[in-house]
Formats: sequence, C-alpha cells, structure tokens
Amino acid sequence: MRIAMLSVHSSPLARLGGKEAGGMNVYVRELARELGQRGVLVDIFTRSQERETPTVTALGRGVRLISLHAGPAAPYDKNLLLTYLPEFVSRVRCFADGEDVSYDVIHSHYWLSGEAALRLRRVWRAPVVHMFHTLGAMKNSVARSEEEVETNRRIAIERRLMREADAVVAATPLDRAQMVWHYGADASRIRVIPCGVDLRRFQPGDRAAARAALGVPHDAMMLVCVGRMEPLKGMDALIRAAARLIRQHPAWRERLQVVLVGGEDETQPARWNSEQRRLDGLRRELGIAAQVQFAGAQPQERLPLYYTAADVVAAPSHYESFGLAALEALACGAAVVASNVGGLALTIEDRRSGLLVPPDDDAALAAQIERILTDAALAARLRAAAVQRAAEYGWPAIARRIAALYDELTAANAAIWSARRLVRVS
Ligand code: UDP
Repeated sequence: MRIAMLSVHSSPLARLGGKEAGGMNVYVRELARELGQRGVLVDIFTRSQERETPTVTALGRGVRLISLHAGPAAPYDKNLLLTYLPEFVSRVRCFADGEDVSYDVIHSHYWLSGEAALRLRRVWRAPVVHMFHTLGAMKNSVARSEEEVETNRRIAIERRLMREADAVVAATPLDRAQMVWHYGADASRIRVIPCGVDLRRFQPGDRAAARAALGVPHDAMMLVCVGRMEPLKGMDALIRAAARLIRQHPAWRERLQVVLVGGEDETQPARWNSEQRRLDGLRRELGIAAQVQFAGAQPQERLPLYYTAADVVAAPSHYESFGLAALEALACGAAVVASNVGGLALTIEDRRSGLLVPPDDDAALAAQIERILTDAALAARLRAAAVQRAAEYGWPAIARRIAALYDELTAANAAIWSARRLVRVS
C-alpha cells in the first residue's frame, strides 16, 4: 500500500507554534510515521518554502517528505496559494512519473490540499480521503474581525470536498455534525476517527524536576497555555482570568505566573504578530505584565516540561476542531481547564478528566482555575483521570483505523474500475 499524503501549505517539519504550524502538522507527521511502522509506504507532498530544501527527506521507516517548488520559495498567504496549485499538482505528477510509482490512496489535509487531491484523483484514479482539520464556516462563526474571516472560495472548496472526496475523516462526532449542519454534507461519507497522541513523549513526569528545568519556583502558581498566537485560541480570556484571580487574592500577585507557549518570546517583540501585540497590550492594561510570560514557540519535545510543571493547563479556545495540546496535557497528567467547545468538550469529560467552562468567559475560567489551585484533592483526582483518558488516544490504535479505511476504499475503488473495464469490453 502506497499513500500520497498532501500537506500543501505547511510542512510536517515546520516550526510548531508559529502562525501556520500546529496540530495538522503534528497529525500528518505522527500518522505517517505510525503507518510507516505498519509497513505502509507514505510520501508526504508539501510546497517548499525555502530555496535550498532537499526534494526528498526520509522521516522514518517507509515515510518520505517530498518538498516541491511551486510559486515563491518563501512562506506565502495560503489563500493566494491557489494560484500555484496547478503548478504544484503538475510537480507532484512529475515526481511520481519520474519514480514510476502510483499511489493507492490520496490522503489530503486542509482544504487547499483537498483541491489538489481532487485534481490528482483524475490522474491516478486513486480514492481520496480528506481531513479538514478546521472548517472555514466554524472559524467564521467565531471570527471577531475582518482579518479572521475565511474566504467564500475556501468554503466552496470545502463544500465540494464533502461531496466529492471518497471519504472525509472527522476528528469528533461534533466535527461531523458541523459538516452536516453548516455545509449540508452527507453524514454517511464521514468517518469519525479521533486524532492521536504520542504517549511515549507525553506521559506524567517529575513536577519538581520540570520546574527546576524551566526555572519556575516550587511555590509558584503556574498556569500554562500552549497554542499558536491566534485570536481563536482565546489566550486573552486566560490573561483576564489571571487578573481577576489577583484582584480576588492580592497575595497571589507574587505567586501567579501565566506562561503562554507559542508565537515569539519576550526577546523578539519585533516578530510578534497582531494577536501577540494585542495580548501584550492587555497584560499591561490589566497591570499584570510581570505575571504573564511569553515563552515563545517550543520544540514539541520540551512541552512535557510545561505540562508537567503547570498547576493548571488552560485551553480557552473559542473553537477547536480537536485540540491536540489539551490532549497532550492530559497525557502528562495535567489538571486541565478548557472551553466547552469542539473537540475539547468531547476529549475532556467535565469534572472527571478536566473542567469545562464556556468560551470567552474569564469569570468562569478564573473560578475553575481557583478551584484547582485551592483544592489539592480535586487536582489529584483530575490528574489521575486525565492520564486514563489520554490512554484511549494512542497512535497505534488510531493509525490502525485509518489503515482499515484505506483498505476499504482501495477495495471499493478496484471494484469500480474493474466494473468499468467490463462495461467497455461488452
Ligand atoms: N506545539 C508545539 N510547540 C508550540 C506550540 C504548539 O510543539 O510552541 C504543538 C503542540 O504540541 C500540538 C500542536 O502544536 O501538538 C497544536 O495543536 P492543537 O490541535 O492544539 O492546535 P492547532 O494548532 O491545530 O490549532
């Protein structure tokens, strides 16, 4: 079985936590590696963003990253990338022809790659499995500014993919329901298969050692949030909640520490994007600039330190199709407070493996954080249940389900093509 995985606008090797690289990149990398371990051959095609990238990079057993030039050799607005999609598709075809390989399944990620997948299907006659990772219509339903609004073109392509892809993978039943409600998708074409977590990387660790490694005092009340600097992540609500807690407990001013992981750190203000500048303005306005720290994007292997050191990991997003960072935090045995939205509301069982609050409600967020900070027994219960919950999402089981879907689609596809041959002969 040979799979062409398409991740056009962002590479699985991109620096995570920046504006354009997060859960989808991790998903593509981890799924491909796990499939590779199962003997499936996976080529991940991406648009090269640098002049010097090698075309082929090995990513582990059976997995190759194929970086192809199409358009400028630099990061580029993903909406404008559509212009270069025909060039990208023809380079993918040239690569496959040059190697004399054909693919059994095309697995595309994000609407842009989906558009490329439908074009490649015509050539390769291979079934398309598509995963959206986020839905434009859902992002628009929580957008607060023009800048955040997704284009009609994107929504139209998403709608077409829901109609034409051989299968769509939704990360949660809610994700599937949103496709049905907002796009009129046919539910029977959508499979619900959750995202996975690397349980070897993310597991409970030694809190004191993690704090020492991060230079966090043992008596600090440490609140952590991990995510790209995007308004959707709701980090402003966490900053407001921290200010509220300090107003209610003036003695906590010396101990409370909010650590935001993602974006750029304190030494790089010139590189902060508009959201990070907005968060900076907010922490100053609320008089808690010293208590809110921008840790910058961290390599994923360092994240267990943050999840383990934290008293509370917050996931205050307005929308999250799945929410990998929260799942990683659970796997590390963190006490998590998350918004009651999207995948977060399904991964976290409220009051068992974490606490759920309405999105954009800093009073509720502060109240639940306060409960964890002041009730050690509750914190211990949540932490233990969190580890149990995350154990249900190990990659081997998830990859097995994706591989079974590939098998099913290739069998159906073979039947369709042999039937067509029969018709032509008769
Ligand atoms: N991540 C990381 N370093 C960072 C910030 C994020 O490695 O500084 C990773 C994190 O481990 C998670 C992913 O990026 O796997 C973010 O996925 P999530 O689903 O939480 O959010 P998305 O980026 O998809 O909106």
